[in-house]
Amino acid sequence: MAVFDAASYDQHEMVAFHEDRQSGLRAIIALHNCQLGPAVGGLRMYPYTDDSAALDDVLRLSRGMTYKSALAGLPMGGGKAVIIGDPRRDKTPALMRAMGAFIDTFGGRFITAEDSGTTVADMREIARRTAYVSGTDEQGGGDPSPYTAHGVYCGILAALRQCRGSDRLDGVSVALQGAGAVGRHLAKRLLDAGAKVFVADVNRENLDRAVALGAEAVSPASILSLEVDVLAPCAMGAVLDEQTVEVVRAGIVAGSANNQLATPAQARRLFERGILYVPDFVLNAGGIIAVHYQRSAAQGQQDGCVEQRSLEHIERIAGVLSDIFARAQAQQCDTHSIAEAMAEEKFRPTSAAPSRRAS
Ligand code: NAD
Repeated sequence: MAVFDAASYDQHEMVAFHEDRQSGLRAIIALHNCQLGPAVGGLRMYPYTDDSAALDDVLRLSRGMTYKSALAGLPMGGGKAVIIGDPRRDKTPALMRAMGAFIDTFGGRFITAEDSGTTVADMREIARRTAYVSGTDEQGGGDPSPYTAHGVYCGILAALRQCRGSDRLDGVSVALQGAGAVGRHLAKRLLDAGAKVFVADVNRENLDRAVALGAEAVSPASILSLEVDVLAPCAMGAVLDEQTVEVVRAGIVAGSANNQLATPAQARRLFERGILYVPDFVLNAGGIIAVHYQRSAAQGQQDGCVEQRSLEHIERIAGVLSDIFARAQAQQCDTHSIAEAMAEEKFRPTSAAPSRRAS
């Protein structure tokens, strides 16, 4: 398995592998960059087909967290943890406690939280072995998705101002792919403001809930190519690849899904096609911003209203995006490359080697 030469390795500070035979734990923790603070990133549990798939996932995700936190203006670095296993079959309290002990060996250089395949109950087991975990009830942590949706909503308004000179939503049409935790909150905000929302979801229950809010159901096969003002991918990653990027008919692509672009080439293609792509790692930072404020409050570091400060910080995502749009226009360059370069200005000393773009 190639490690140092993999594009996703991209100057990681540390990657640690750990096996605990007693509990069956096999896990990887990747710290991409701790220049701005401790590496913060979720713990994912997934039945990876092999170790290389797990390594590739953790490297890509931890790198993404560095860029996300840097542009969100948070005093955090980027990291991620994965457990190799099926959460429905292999997860036990002992396994989570063993994971907690592994996290504790980093002495605070890595802090984790809930992610796909893990829950608040898992975070509580982890907290029995380490203090470096967020999103346990005791710390006031909870579901980050309303905060993520708030940031996406503010970012869509910024994109509309850029493209149309107005952020009025009445008469604006949005194609929403995925009405899960984030998509559902986003649909409600958009509908309340007068937008027309088309929604596709492979989960019938989630689809029905969005329709009950006032959205119109369309098939998952047609959602990407609808002729709308905004396409909001809020389901899974790599939704825009070499083929699908050509079918998009929206003027703006802005959604919460992580790693929406299969490769950076799709950002260039959207730019060539005159479609404004709102970089996902900037737009979907609302959840991590909320986690930061909740954690600071739990440690007694914040005065005043945590909720209010958190929301105000999330609303600043719109300003960062306007800056990205302006630079992209001035340099005639795609927004994804501009956003990555702006993040690197924050977390890499100027003499450092340039990033190898993960593809
Ligand atoms: P979720 O699992 O609650 O919702 C995802 C929804 O997408 C589900 O309803 C699922 O059925 C649907 N879906 C899956 N495949 C689909 C397809 N092919 N077509 C249509 N719908 C499909 O997840 P979430 O928490 O809402 O997150 C959505 C995305 O945003 C994910 O990519 C996630 O990584 C990202 N994200 C979430 C947060 C957060 O706070 N939850 C923060 C940052 C990024």
